[in-house]
Amino acid sequence: MTHFVIIGAGECGVRAAFALREKGFEGEVTLVGAEPVTPYERPPLSKAALANGAAPKFIAASEQYSEKDIRLLTGVTALELEATGRSVLLSDGSRLSYDKLLLATGASARSFPGTSANSARIRSLRTHRDAMTLRSVLKPGSHIVIVGGGFIGLEVAATARQLGAKVTVVEGLERVLKRGVPTEIADMVTARHRSEGVVIRCGVSIETITERDNKALVRLTAGEFVEADLVLIGIGAQPNVDLATKAGLAVDNGIAVDGRLRTSAPDIFAAGDCCSFPLGVYGGRRIRLESWRNAQEQGEIAAVNMMGGDEIVSSVPWFWSDQYDLTLQVTGLADSAVTHLKRDLSNGAFILFHLDVDGRLVAASGIGPGNSVARDIRVAEMLIAARARPTSAALTAGDVKLKSLLAALGL
Ligand code: FAD
Repeated sequence: MTHFVIIGAGECGVRAAFALREKGFEGEVTLVGAEPVTPYERPPLSKAALANGAAPKFIAASEQYSEKDIRLLTGVTALELEATGRSVLLSDGSRLSYDKLLLATGASARSFPGTSANSARIRSLRTHRDAMTLRSVLKPGSHIVIVGGGFIGLEVAATARQLGAKVTVVEGLERVLKRGVPTEIADMVTARHRSEGVVIRCGVSIETITERDNKALVRLTAGEFVEADLVLIGIGAQPNVDLATKAGLAVDNGIAVDGRLRTSAPDIFAAGDCCSFPLGVYGGRRIRLESWRNAQEQGEIAAVNMMGGDEIVSSVPWFWSDQYDLTLQVTGLADSAVTHLKRDLSNGAFILFHLDVDGRLVAASGIGPGNSVARDIRVAEMLIAARARPTSAALTAGDVKLKSLLAALGL
């Protein structure tokens, strides 16, 4: 019987496994996951699960795997990939032969130079276990230092304040979220954190982080020491490419795939956080995304193409982050933008539209309470996909419905 193997049981791998069944694949499906638990969602780890100490939010209930005849192996790592012989060596000593293989190995938190990723007082956040370790120190009177003012670090800062812990964020660049959003949004986020009591220190470099007497000690380059009960390293993630690299697959800021998620080796696909891919709407430039929706969408596309389909990755990137009652959403890629325009919404919410040199909408980012920016960001995403060049007046005038721009394009 035809055997499809998926390595990595995160958002992407799980979605791919179920998509294979939904699309009618009748062969064997084996899903191999290194974590010793039923696959779960990661976004709650810095939000609700960290705040409530909740059990993992499973992507699918364990009985659904058997119902769909998906063989789920948990606590098992794929150690070696033999691309020519089409087999994978697993950490339990067994070897799986495959007809088609999907690498959905995700990403790992980047560690701070000179520290171990798993010491008692210096931690990163990627797994539910990490979240529970972190939670155990988030209580009134404790002090946590967060290294890096990125999305995950700031979400943890918000949750830590909710739990009563003191929080200091140390960011090496001149402001938080430098790579993620424009200054106007970062300023609003920073102001909100400061009003909640978070100390945010930007433009500050760290020399060393050490542990002593049940404390972590952060030495800043200026010579100052900051003591903490725990230091969370939030300086981004790196794609898990070891298996692919050792097997001789092309790697370029992630496992390099084409628009159909095919790697450089026959019958091996890669998808989700672990891969870099060309994105048509941005002229085919190669990018890698770390985003929940992308992991899901690519899992589905990989499944279709493993079954002989011909689907190309074409959706516009989209990401969200929740901090306090604020939700921030970003769609598209802003780095080719030369200007941006602001549209004010109600309750202090606003959206920034990023335009390139030709006046084409290439990205939009917005922030506001709850779901206030969601609808307009969705419309912006469709305008970006349509490569629209809306007028400034239409984007900024509150009385012009963004949807009318779609209608004008016949969408
Ligand atoms: P992963 O979720 O990383 O899953 C890969 C799996 O493969 C892991 O379980 C790993 O253990 C396993 N694996 C790796 N190598 C092997 C091997 N050799 N053998 C077997 N198994 C292996 N995105 C958003 O859009 N919005 C958010 O608000 C948001 N919040 C987040 C908060 C946190 C704390 C984190 C960590 C991520 C967040 N994300 C968010 C990102 C989102 O969760 C990821 O983009 C998504 O999980 C990627 O899915 P994936 O399946 O590609 O990779």
